[in-house]
Amino acid sequence: MITRSLEAIIRMLDADYIEQGNMNVQIKGVCIDSRKAVAGNLYVPLIGARADGHAFVKEAIQGGVAATLWKRDVPNPPADIPVLIVDDTLDALQRLAKAYREQLSCRIIGITGSNGKTSTKDIAASILSQTYRTYKTLGNQNNEIGVPLTLLALADDAQAAVVEMGIETMDEMDLLSEMVQPDIAIITNIGEAHLVNMGSKENIAIAKCKIVKAMKPKGLLIYNGDQKVLRDAVARLERDDIELATFGIQPGNDLQITALATSMDHISFSINQEAQRYELDMIGAHNACNAAAAMLAGFALGMCDEAIQRGLNHVEKTGLRNEVMQIGEMLVLNDSYKSNPQSVEAALDTFDTIQAPYKIVVLGDMLDLGEEEIMIHYHCGKELAKHAVDEVLTYGELSAFLCQGASNVLSCPCFHFTTHAELIEYLKPYLKKTCAMLIKGSRGMHLDEVVEALKGSK
Ligand code: ATP
Ligand code: MG
Repeated sequence: MITRSLEAIIRMLDADYIEQGNMNVQIKGVCIDSRKAVAGNLYVPLIGARADGHAFVKEAIQGGVAATLWKRDVPNPPADIPVLIVDDTLDALQRLAKAYREQLSCRIIGITGSNGKTSTKDIAASILSQTYRTYKTLGNQNNEIGVPLTLLALADDAQAAVVEMGIETMDEMDLLSEMVQPDIAIITNIGEAHLVNMGSKENIAIAKCKIVKAMKPKGLLIYNGDQKVLRDAVARLERDDIELATFGIQPGNDLQITALATSMDHISFSINQEAQRYELDMIGAHNACNAAAAMLAGFALGMCDEAIQRGLNHVEKTGLRNEVMQIGEMLVLNDSYKSNPQSVEAALDTFDTIQAPYKIVVLGDMLDLGEEEIMIHYHCGKELAKHAVDEVLTYGELSAFLCQGASNVLSCPCFHFTTHAELIEYLKPYLKKTCAMLIKGSRGMHLDEVVEALKGSK
């Protein structure tokens, strides 16, 4: 984590300050949540929709913070610790992160894309950590607050860092790229996530490509070469000083995944038709693409095959993505963390690799899809015809259309539910039968709570 004298922090921020308390203190790390304050932290009171961090500065001081930022027009700054006055605390957090990043000598790998950022981050960090002292984004902290916090959590002696960069609007990437200044950027893929803000897949591709905006000269952009929309956006980039490398299933990619084999607990594949097999302790064909992107980063940093393979074998995964669990007699593929058409397709392909005498698919609404949302749900329902499914259950207003699409093409039962409680009651008897269930929906549909309720009821 950032460890600098208060004086250095004041210079990095070019902040005004109230001289009081211990001005010679060494700042160790930043914190935005007074409940998580640790001795030596710099407190950054952010103003959110629900709460204003300035109101909790006393708790932060009790927690041991050594100094605090303070928005210029907020009254009653604390009187006992040094106060750094800024016009906007979020902007100051981001400027501090950018200034700190510029002082670090580690190689930074920035990862964006509609799906698979966190998974690719976990795989890339595992690979790089075989050779380099590597840090990575914790959990899913990938936005305008999470990215600066991730950068400020890096140690001075870090050799590599893998930073997840998520955006919901056209302009956010400019800011993230300026802060991260990646040496290597990865774009996992372009899907329809956040279509509501960005309007079209072409726009989403353009927005993600801005990851290279503040990339270091001679940097490397690794992207999914199977997607024309992404190839077109990359071709229009005005940065001819950076290298490009593609991955994908199709021939012609720099790293082509070949002879992919999927099973219920892992996947294996070759690259570029070579005999050597790579094993990954994750499920789903989509994770081969995520691994391929991460491997290109490893190769670019001079890593050998053995180290890369070791990294693939030891991935520390972030929860709720493709989690397989047993609840009673039911095998559950819990993917209740996010949903959009591409990730549903990926999850259904993964579910196809699971063998069970009876297979239930539970799908909740895919949020933020914009004007086409009804037809996208309907079409997603029809796509279920491509998979081995014995029963389809849906939950949420939009998923009623998914249910319609499914029942128009499938002869198996398709039922729609309007409350968690009904869905849970309906599912309970299945816990006593040998069966498998895929459960997936946008985070806002809280399908993880359905899984928790089933766990609690067996
Ligand atoms: P978020 O935008 O919420 O941060 P993310 O991009 O980090 O999501 P992950 O958390 O890695 O994505 O994966 C979420 C889900 O997306 C997975 O459980 C899986 O269903 C799907 N997914 C992951 N990788 C891919 C991929 N390469 N292609 C399509 N779908 C994928
Ligand atoms: Mg993520």
